[in-house]
Amino acid sequence: MEKRSILLKYGELILKGANRSYFDAVLLRQVRRKLKPLGEFRVFTSQSTVFVESEDDMLLEMALPLMQKVFGIVSVSMAWRVEKEMGAILKCVEEKIAPDLVGAQSFKADARRSDKKFPLKSPEICREVGGCVLRTLGKRAPRVDVHNPAEVVWVEIREDFAYVHAGKLPGAGGMPYGTSGRALLLLSGGIDSPVAGYRMAKRGAFVDCLHFESFPYTSERAKEKVMDLARKLCAYTDTVNFASIRLTKLQLALQEACQEEYFTILLRRSMMRLACRVAERQGCGAIVTGESLGQVASQTMEALRCTDAVANLPVYRPLIGMDKEEIVRTSREIDCFETSILPYEDCCTVFTPRHPKLNPTLEQVLAEEEKLDLASLENEAFENIEFVRIDG
Ligand code: ATP
Ligand code: MG
Repeated sequence: MEKRSILLKYGELILKGANRSYFDAVLLRQVRRKLKPLGEFRVFTSQSTVFVESEDDMLLEMALPLMQKVFGIVSVSMAWRVEKEMGAILKCVEEKIAPDLVGAQSFKADARRSDKKFPLKSPEICREVGGCVLRTLGKRAPRVDVHNPAEVVWVEIREDFAYVHAGKLPGAGGMPYGTSGRALLLLSGGIDSPVAGYRMAKRGAFVDCLHFESFPYTSERAKEKVMDLARKLCAYTDTVNFASIRLTKLQLALQEACQEEYFTILLRRSMMRLACRVAERQGCGAIVTGESLGQVASQTMEALRCTDAVANLPVYRPLIGMDKEEIVRTSREIDCFETSILPYEDCCTVFTPRHPKLNPTLEQVLAEEEKLDLASLENEAFENIEFVRIDG
């Protein structure tokens, strides 16, 4: 009797050689975590494929889109699991697969045999399966195109069963979440920083979040919006450690003591110093920001250099070479865009200078910083840090 089964194909981690079993284990853990709220599943891995099975087909349907958000997986397919003999395979093609091919431009069959004892070789399986589709659909059959088919009917002969499916859905790609160290994302309520966090998580970094607020100049609702964005990231990651630091007093002191055109750069340096302290405390090996070259005054090369000068950890800027349009596309894909554009204040905009310094030199910036006791203002902000754990 045929049953349904989800097949998840590994991506790059196939290349990981000796570390392979570690990557396997992390990937399986992520898959199981995502499935746990839905119910009981059987999850196992064999030859670069994760198999997800359940007694309940409804549960598998629900699991499918969740599996598309697991990093480390390149494709996701809902397959039919059948007995390992040609009769059962062809019956499945005839009843379950062929009807869905009506209306397709073209198709081909593709076969993989990990069990080399199976009596037919891959090309022979393909021929049989292709023939079966043509016979079943008659005039309604799509034409065969082995080079550039619109649809592919896959047959995989595995150890215990054969799996038949048509159509691979895209997986999230990247590396399994948490296999590349831990980074601290500076998360604002804007469009860019959630995308930057997503990019790093996709490369396997654990992402902790740090948000700066200026209550009461920024509202509680503004902060909740940022937490909502962190929650959106959880669809791809895990629970998120979310920290927030209140900068109101520091910002008011800057406003009082320093030249207005330097506010932004001074604030960003304070943010970076504080971020490095938080990162160190949480065991993060890098800071991540959503900065993109030339986007605003604080993102010119000179300004970024002034910010980096106070960082004692590497600062990763995955969006540095991306256009806004590309960033927006990803923001939509990860379902953050609609939240990001909600109109709430951000602590950077509350005290924005009318004419920010485009090309600040480090000397000028240091001279401004001499004008107040930033160290104690930062200490005070750091001591009042707040933490929450956010679940997806
Ligand atoms: P975003 O869309 O991510 O807010 P932006 O284009 O508005 O970015 P800036 O406001 O200059 O640019 O911020 C640059 C980066 O600095 C952000 O991507 C984010 O990583 C960090 N950042 C800015 N404001 C905050 C904040 N209030 N809390 C935490 N990080 C922040
Ligand atoms: Mg912003």
